[in-house]
Amino acid sequence: METYQNFIGGEWVAAQSGKTFETLNPADTREKVAQYPHSGGEDAKAAVAAAKAAFPGWAAMTPVARGRVLSKASQLIESRKPELAKLLTREEGKTLAEATGEVQRTADIFRFFGGISYTLGGQTIPHDLPNNLLYTKREPLGVVALITPWNFPIAIPAWKLAPALVSGNAVVIKPASQAPAMTCEIAKVLAEAGLPKGVLNVVMGDGRAVGGELATNPDVVALSFTGSYKIGHQIYQQLAPRQARAQMEMGGKNPTIVLDDADLDLAAKLVAIAGFGLTGQACTATSRVIVDKKVAAAFTEKLIEKAKAIKVGNGLSDGVTMGPAVNEQEFKGNLDYVDIALKEGAKLVYGGKQLKDGDLAHGYFMEPTIVGGVTPNMRIAKEEVFGPVIAIIEVDGFDQALEVANGVDVGLSASIVTRDIKKAMLYTDRIQVGVIKVNQISTGLALQAPFGGVKQSSTDSFKEQGTVAIDFYTRIKTVYLDYSA
Ligand code: NAD
Repeated sequence: METYQNFIGGEWVAAQSGKTFETLNPADTREKVAQYPHSGGEDAKAAVAAAKAAFPGWAAMTPVARGRVLSKASQLIESRKPELAKLLTREEGKTLAEATGEVQRTADIFRFFGGISYTLGGQTIPHDLPNNLLYTKREPLGVVALITPWNFPIAIPAWKLAPALVSGNAVVIKPASQAPAMTCEIAKVLAEAGLPKGVLNVVMGDGRAVGGELATNPDVVALSFTGSYKIGHQIYQQLAPRQARAQMEMGGKNPTIVLDDADLDLAAKLVAIAGFGLTGQACTATSRVIVDKKVAAAFTEKLIEKAKAIKVGNGLSDGVTMGPAVNEQEFKGNLDYVDIALKEGAKLVYGGKQLKDGDLAHGYFMEPTIVGGVTPNMRIAKEEVFGPVIAIIEVDGFDQALEVANGVDVGLSASIVTRDIKKAMLYTDRIQVGVIKVNQISTGLALQAPFGGVKQSSTDSFKEQGTVAIDFYTRIKTVYLDYSA
């Protein structure tokens, strides 16, 4: 079992209370993966103070010098890819292939923002008068807090940390308690890459106590959160009174529309990857398939074949294509949602049960699940099920498909499978989401492109990822300079 401490002011320290907690392997809960400090508000306070002290020195460095640290970190992460991926799988449960991809993504994110350092600047703007210079410059904000979820335990901390740090901010991060190891590993790597002490601080522990302190501490000037709507919405309210900058990225209920002209083999393949891949534990996972009733039966048959081909098991084992749910609570929640749907009149098309034969008995495994006969007002059609459960809703034509797709409170990602370019383009115009894919999976993002939701999926004032990620972590100052006299 690994042992991690909080990382505060460049030192690895225990929680002030001395308390600890452990993570278990969700594929085999007999295995303890790591032990962490069970921190409280006082530890978060100390981390904010350390960040505040380190901020001026880091902010005074040039972006290029800061970028060098990130680029070095990228190399170190890449060189440790196999070891990090294995630890990620043991703690969070996704397959080794999925974990390896996520670690590579993290190395790429640090390389991307290391490169961005060369272009971090402002804009010159023509002035009304001659011999006047009018320009903008970008400045870091100060102490920025990051609160992250468990489902991409290395990529999400990275896609917040890299733009925050290259912009010159000092950071306190609180990773989710289900899978904090990867954030600690990033901290180790950044320290080795030359990040000055106190610029990055990591505090593990109770969400309410640690996260609550970060949300209310007057020295935290901006907070970027990814997680559930319930918590994100609450933190947003805590930031508002002091006008701290807020970026809340939350859940989705992502639709894939399958039109009657679609290539149904392609549609089944895309839906299976986007719905069952990563055990359905992606914020962009397809959880609603809105299919034209003319092709619903044929599509469903093909999707069942895809589900049957999935091998559920320990993500470290050869041939396994779907791992467990991250913990008992998520696992039970997934199974409960299937029961609720059936009670509301939906019908079980495939799966729906716990898998507990042999080695699976010690993990949180369930079958990839397809629920048919779903109507838009059922809970399974409206609420996020963070697991391998796909709801099929039959509709009559494109207009109804669009109406159903937009008929939820959230709007993160969406996909459409069709050969009709006009309908595809109308969908991209009219669907209320942040990311729309045509003939592609609803999951999977290019790190160089903006990402974020709309409606209740996001506070939607700043995007993450891509070059625009810098906007959240910097403020623009406008300079007027008259050299006419
Ligand atoms: P969560 O909201 O339960 O937890 C997120 C983080 O908030 C964790 O670090 C947690 O410890 C912390 N937290 C808990 N209570 C808190 C409090 N009272 N104050 C401050 N912080 C607190 O979410 P989760 O279960 O870790 O993640 C799953 C959710 O994240 C899903 O809804 C998923 O859709 C969403 N998600 C969204 C995106 C996106 O980019 N939009 C990406 C990944 C996951």
